[in-house]
Amino acid sequence: MIQITMPLGFLGTVYREIRQALVDMGTMFGLLSQPEEVKDLPEAKALAVQGGEIRFDNVRFAYDPTREILKGVSFCVKPGQTLALVGHSGSGKSTIGRLLFRFYDVTGGAVTIDGQDIRSITQSSLHEAIGVVPQDTVLFNDTIRYNIGYGRANATAEQIIAAAKAARIHDFITSLPEGYDTTVGERGLKLSGGEKQRVGIARTILKNPPILILDEATSALDTQTERSIQESLREMGQGRSVITIAHRLSTIADADQILVMEAGEVLECGTHDMLLARGGRYAAMWAQQSAEEEQDAA
Ligand code: ADP
Ligand code: MG
Repeated sequence: MIQITMPLGFLGTVYREIRQALVDMGTMFGLLSQPEEVKDLPEAKALAVQGGEIRFDNVRFAYDPTREILKGVSFCVKPGQTLALVGHSGSGKSTIGRLLFRFYDVTGGAVTIDGQDIRSITQSSLHEAIGVVPQDTVLFNDTIRYNIGYGRANATAEQIIAAAKAARIHDFITSLPEGYDTTVGERGLKLSGGEKQRVGIARTILKNPPILILDEATSALDTQTERSIQESLREMGQGRSVITIAHRLSTIADADQILVMEAGEVLECGTHDMLLARGGRYAAMWAQQSAEEEQDAA
């Protein structure tokens, strides 16, 4: 369980929002606290979402000035479309998610949402527009109701139930003796990986963001659970712009666009069919994973 302490001045919605953002990003990226201060400009405006088009324009980034991690990455996710990032561990996929969330500022190029440079907008409005489902959803030592409900301040009981139903976790919750009042987390009922991810999905459905980042959201699950959670993620992605980072290629084969990352650069880009026909890196990765799956099935 990640403990994040905030200065006393943070109250109410702002506190919830920031804490949620930090917790989700913390688990997503293995970070325990915000590494450096990204500040709102004095003239920063609230993000005006018109569909949620995400654009990376020749983005460069280094955590440490001596080692550039992203070396000029460009792509565009049209409103409602899904972009999948694949590539070896360390190739820069999660970094792209962190930059979209403006956990750090780019060192070159720009990230825009609906034409607005994210450095010119308030972080609170940016974080409100983005939902994150990390590999491991963090649960607070509190009720399931609270754990789902903090997706949105002042959510009603009906809204929480509707989100749980959409995430296919409602029946499980009502089967528990204390239902939505069951305490979960380290000091409560331990949920399975799949159940935790469903709570995370319900939380995000309740938040209702136009943009989603799914960072290896199912890679810690067994194949069977992964399949059923993928279905829920796909439903949640309808009508939203999605950046999905996946290990198993079969889970992203229907993405509108697939980017193959290699050492901080886009090596290949296209649909599944285009990339297979190209016979390059993606095709090789696909062949390898298909062979492995056949072996597992045998
Ligand atoms: P991926 O998600 O594709 O596995 P990441 O985007 O997490 O890759 O990481 C890309 C590179 O950046 C890796 O070499 C990693 O070691 C480095 N990196 C990630 N986070 C940090 C950090 N906070 N400080 C310094 N280097 C980092
Ligand atoms: Mg990663």
